[in-house]
Amino acid sequence: LASFVYKHVLVLGLAKSGTAAAELLLDSGVSVRINDLKADEESDLVKRLKNKGAEVITGGHPLHILDDIDLIVKNPGIRYENPVVEEGLKRGISVVTEIELAGQLHQGDLIGVTGSNGKTTTTTLIHAFLEADQQPVSIAGNIGEVASEVARTTSEEETMVIELSSFQLMGVETFKPNIAVWLNLFEAHLDYHHTLENYFRAKANIISQQTEDDYLVYNADDEAILSFLPEAAAVHVPFSITEKVNGTWADDEYIYYKEEKVMKRSEIVLVGEHNLANILAAVAAVKIRGISNQAIRTILTSFAGVTHRLEFVTRKRGVLFYNDSKATNILATSYALRSFAQPTVLLAGGLDRGNSFDALVPYLNNVKAMVVFGETQDKLAEAAKQAQVENVKAVETMDEAVAAAYRFTNEGDVVLLSPACASWDQYRTFEERGHMFKQAVHKL
Ligand code: ADP
Repeated sequence: LASFVYKHVLVLGLAKSGTAAAELLLDSGVSVRINDLKADEESDLVKRLKNKGAEVITGGHPLHILDDIDLIVKNPGIRYENPVVEEGLKRGISVVTEIELAGQLHQGDLIGVTGSNGKTTTTTLIHAFLEADQQPVSIAGNIGEVASEVARTTSEEETMVIELSSFQLMGVETFKPNIAVWLNLFEAHLDYHHTLENYFRAKANIISQQTEDDYLVYNADDEAILSFLPEAAAVHVPFSITEKVNGTWADDEYIYYKEEKVMKRSEIVLVGEHNLANILAAVAAVKIRGISNQAIRTILTSFAGVTHRLEFVTRKRGVLFYNDSKATNILATSYALRSFAQPTVLLAGGLDRGNSFDALVPYLNNVKAMVVFGETQDKLAEAAKQAQVENVKAVETMDEAVAAAYRFTNEGDVVLLSPACASWDQYRTFEERGHMFKQAVHKL
């Protein structure tokens, strides 16, 4: 399949990515040892891997499993404090994530997308633009399959678009995107990376192997990213939502690539300033590749957003419905609220994490009514009162919530599910919550 230089690889963690890495290595003739604390020896998966020749060690992390190992492929979620990882590094063994294997295997172009927020949306857009322009393209990451699984079937002509988390980027050595897209850099995941510096460093791995033949699409509005630019050998392609730059940018009417008008903003379905940034990043990445404006327009005039992320659901009696179930904190809901100039009916509530919702108050000025539910309903009602929202209604079920919201609307209003809370008090996942919202809307 591939000619990896490794002889004996330790795969740490047998989740989706570890399984894909183990199978790839085994099928490529590399000898593989797998270590997972909890994997079930009797499961079909473990049996299949053993049949392919893997050695599987469960129940602990004994250090002798490192003997003869020349590479550790680590699940991105496993921390560097893990005793096997610590000891491996001490012994000078490389520690990578499956992304490194995918990069070695895939022979075509790579477009890598990273950032604290907006990765899935931007990755999806880039993939869609290339597809609309009839280019051979595949997608990997959160929304798609594991990269090292996808890379097994890609051809030399094919572009692979990969969404990359900071956890994945910590573990790369030779991985190099031809086009790197760096969206933004907020403080996040400090429990894992410990310091902001470490987290930023991990993200910066997306550019560390690039040369002057490669491209870096970056957010020119983000100070933290700008501070890394002197290290970037690739051709710099900025995007900005605030000013004209030598890349992609926008005024009130159009989006531009350098001096060229790409399309009218009024034709774009996706709402929100943060999504404009994602759009500009995605357009920059494909304009570098010479994609036609027609292909870009085809997608942006129809793409309604990634499911549950400020996703346009439908229009009923002139009322627009949006599903932003993925918004599980105040920051995400504030982005959603800032996306609409129309009077908005907000559906919010869910798991109580003990926080207040005072920080949401400044964003409620367009909100004409709030329908609240779940454990946090009283706290949200209190925030609504502070913001002098005219109408507040507490409900039990999603059907009631949608019906109540609809009664508050006039033509031209927006009904927005953006709960500002996790879903686990009433739903299994935010996906289930969003799905029930959409069902209730379609039942109206
Ligand atoms: P990720 O894959 O990085 O989690 P998504 O595209 O799934 O990002 O978007 C998740 C949420 O992050 C959105 O619902 C929105 O609240 C927020 N978001 C998306 N894009 C941006 C951006 N460019 N800047 C800031 N926040 C964003």
